[in-house]
Amino acid sequence: MITILRLGHRKDRDKRASMHVALVARALGADGIIISGEPDDELLQRIATVGQKWGGKFKAEYTASYRTALKKFSGKKVHLTMYGMPLQDVAPKVASEKNLMFVVGSEKVPREVYEMCDYNIAVTNQPHSEIAALALTMRECCGTRIYSQRFPKGKLRILPSEKGKNVEKI
Ligand code: SAM
Repeated sequence: MITILRLGHRKDRDKRASMHVALVARALGADGIIISGEPDDELLQRIATVGQKWGGKFKAEYTASYRTALKKFSGKKVHLTMYGMPLQDVAPKVASEKNLMFVVGSEKVPREVYEMCDYNIAVTNQPHSEIAALALTMRECCGTRIYSQRFPKGKLRILPSEKGKNVEKI
């Protein structure tokens, strides 16, 4: 099981970034995303629409308290932060865990998040994009299975094509 916790979503400023965090998470096989910060029904709806069209079981929900979401989660919590330990060193240990929550920020992340999480990991100790950092972390921690996810019950399916677009209605 893989869950993403998106911290501090700002409805206007993070509209696109939070959507992209969700798109990466879904495409690479996460089970769902929990969004904290400003409530944004439109964002939840846009994520749900992707699922209705392209299939799969990815779920998006809002939480009024990231603290509660962290406390309730029973697996290992992995916070992505430029201040953390190098991804390449920690990934083998994280990869052995069955139930993971990847935590990504937007605005300044409260100190307690660093303490509540089991791992604080950095994709380079340089400022990064949360979207790219999540993709790289999932690749390192979840392996090549991220590329072979199944998305049942969609309305559309792409038939891979060397040239052009081939989309099948199901
Ligand atoms: N400028 C914002 C601030 O400090 O208020 C931070 C924006 S940063 C792009 C948002 C999120 O990206 C961070 O909370 C973290 O989850 C992720 N991130 C940024 N740099 C990272 C790095 N080097 N490794 C892993 N995650 C990183």
